[in-house]
Amino acid sequence: MSRKSPIPESAPAGSVCVRFAPSPTGPLHIGGVRTALYNYLLAKKHQGRFILRIEDTDQVRQVPGSEAYIQEALQWLGIVPDEGPQAGPNAPYRQSDRKHIYPQYVDQLLAAGHAYYAFDTAEELEAMRAKLQAARVAAPKYNAVTRESMRNALTLPQEEVEALLQAGAPHVVRLKVPHQGVIRFYDHVRGWIQVQAATLDDKVLVKSDGIPTYHLAHVIDDHVMGISHVIRGEEWLPSTPIHILLYQYLGIEQALPQFVHLPLLLNPQGQGKLSKREVETLGLPIFPLDWKDPITGAYMPGFREAGYLPEALLNFLALLGWSPSGGQQEIFSREELISHFSIAHIHKAGVRLDIHKARWFNQQHLKRKPQQERVAYLTAALQAHQLTYTPEQVAAVCELIEDRVAFPQDFWEQGKCFFQAPESYDLATIHARGCPPVYELLSAWIEVLRALPHFAPDAIHATLQNLLADGGMRSSDVMPIVRVALTGTRSGPDLMQSMALLGQAEVIQRLSKGLAAFRQITQPAT
Ligand code: GLU
Repeated sequence: MSRKSPIPESAPAGSVCVRFAPSPTGPLHIGGVRTALYNYLLAKKHQGRFILRIEDTDQVRQVPGSEAYIQEALQWLGIVPDEGPQAGPNAPYRQSDRKHIYPQYVDQLLAAGHAYYAFDTAEELEAMRAKLQAARVAAPKYNAVTRESMRNALTLPQEEVEALLQAGAPHVVRLKVPHQGVIRFYDHVRGWIQVQAATLDDKVLVKSDGIPTYHLAHVIDDHVMGISHVIRGEEWLPSTPIHILLYQYLGIEQALPQFVHLPLLLNPQGQGKLSKREVETLGLPIFPLDWKDPITGAYMPGFREAGYLPEALLNFLALLGWSPSGGQQEIFSREELISHFSIAHIHKAGVRLDIHKARWFNQQHLKRKPQQERVAYLTAALQAHQLTYTPEQVAAVCELIEDRVAFPQDFWEQGKCFFQAPESYDLATIHARGCPPVYELLSAWIEVLRALPHFAPDAIHATLQNLLADGGMRSSDVMPIVRVALTGTRSGPDLMQSMALLGQAEVIQRLSKGLAAFRQITQPAT
């Protein structure tokens, strides 16, 4: 199916107005961050406005600290709203502060007969569901059929309704969904969607506490704020027909925004929705920042604290469900994302979260950082550990370990061995490979190295090759032991280059010390 153009060719700059409308019910999941990012990219591309609106009508589900978390996460990622709780021409931006705006619209719907009061108690609703379930109705609904036997303004005499309202009887306001007909709307990812009205619920629009539900409040806010595109997760697609009806009934159909429902983020196996429970098994954060639940105390790790760069996370998330047309480019700066982004290339299928890919993006973006910034990560760690260094040494080490670094903290992990001798050794390697012939060769090599006039990688390598040839050994017999003696571990960057960087005196000292220790470790028991 060919897609409609989401932005009319004739659209003037600034006519795009989007919103990210999270509910403060906990930390922002990266699926939510992706939604915010796509909104932001579209707004920036078209010199439009990006609004942050806090949808806090459901007081019960609110979690303290989540709004601050959302704002901090967006700030960290540079997905900065043009308008939001901080300031803007459409203030206020928290739905709880906008309660005065909604009643006139509710009255309009009631007066036109598109909404009605319902007085059913929780028990009555439960009894209705139980009755329908007993009659094998798979998904019981409050709809055009069932509402006929419930306690609402459509079944009760008008005087009784008025008396109940006067007496302050608990009630809600429901949408009167038509019994028949088809609701049709266009989604820029899914194409035309048709839904039979009979499959929908008479959704509650105003709860018994007088506060509107998400369905009503967001339609009014989107209208009042002039939202041109609603970009949100696919989980909202089933409710969209309700929203379409509200636009019709409120007489604001001409202001119907363009709908863009984003594909689901799936777990790494591609078999189900990405959920909080998978955090531990994934080894990949699914929240932008660390989060400690104020109620349960549960801790969730964040991308920021794990060492992800904001630009890498943006790049990774942008490509989870969107790809630019043509070309194989994968690394995008923020500016490139803005200029390439288009709704037309958002994918339909759910997207698998690939942990390795997130790491790879971080590595690539880290590599692209100016040299002085990368050097600064290691310099700061060396200072924190009170180690001595020269700037030239630090720069050379950073270059040598570049391919082994995916996170800023890796500069220290990979680079520290150049500034401090090992305090312990990888014993598994020593036990597996340490033996008298290797030790003999090493002690001969130490003497050769001591006499080497130019301590450069090629020269060091040549001396080892000569000894190996004489002793009938392979480099794989010796190199792991050498590396453990020098660094304590059995993996690291190119060994000859590492030795040259460490310098002749340090290499000789570490090798001698290591050799003595290894002889002890592998001494046969007497
Ligand atoms: N408040 C809704 C949420 O938490 C927003 C859905 C929408 O964007 O319309 O996801």
